[in-house]
Amino acid sequence: MVAKALVFDVDDTLYDLAGPYRVAYAEVFGSRYDLPVEELFKVSRVHSDEALELLTAGKISEEDHKVLRVQWTLADWGVHVSREEALVFQEAYARAQRHIALYPEAVEMLDACASASVPLGIISNGDAAHQFGKMRLLGLERWFARSHMVASGELGAHKPATAPFMAMERLLGASGAGIWYVGDTYETDVVGAKRVGWSSLWLDIRGREVPSVPESPDVVVHSPREMCDAVKSLLRPCA
Ligand SMILES: [Mg+2]
Repeated sequence: MVAKALVFDVDDTLYDLAGPYRVAYAEVFGSRYDLPVEELFKVSRVHSDEALELLTAGKISEEDHKVLRVQWTLADWGVHVSREEALVFQEAYARAQRHIALYPEAVEMLDACASASVPLGIISNGDAAHQFGKMRLLGLERWFARSHMVASGELGAHKPATAPFMAMERLLGASGAGIWYVGDTYETDVVGAKRVGWSSLWLDIRGREVPSVPESPDVVVHSPREMCDAVKSLLRPCA
């Protein structure tokens, strides 16, 4: 199958989101608690999505969202974090995020997409200013037109809602299974893409649990290397 267009998630798909988390954890909590930071990170992603839902529903503030996801995560290990400590962690996390870089395999993959002249897009969940800041930092304008970068925050609807995917269809002037969505979060990326009839490539680096939902990915890969190779295979007609 040849992809008509390729659309990518950003966080944890094109770069390692856990890197800045590890740095912030070592800086703020590392000397006090001996917690499994990779597990902590995984759980923090779930709590972050839960808090994002409350934020979207207008039930909590931006600052509450940042505080709660830290508090809920450490509470799972029986550690109580004050509002002030959570904000100190958030600050350290934001600082570390200013030093993120694309996976080398993601660079190779996007270069191959550009050489094949396949239309490209980005759909990223989160606050628009924050997500666009990261996209700039990662140098994604090299491969993606600014008009083809969608942050859910600017639509007020987050993946797996259909709105961000349908906005991308309008930008691409295309729809259907010829559009491939590449992302790491099953609940938002696989489910969202399949609901609008796209094909789904799931990057499962962290060995996540598969939720019991009717939607399933068309291709599953387990590393940036495998993702790069799988995407390249979508750029060529099958032999
Ligand atoms: Mg992601």
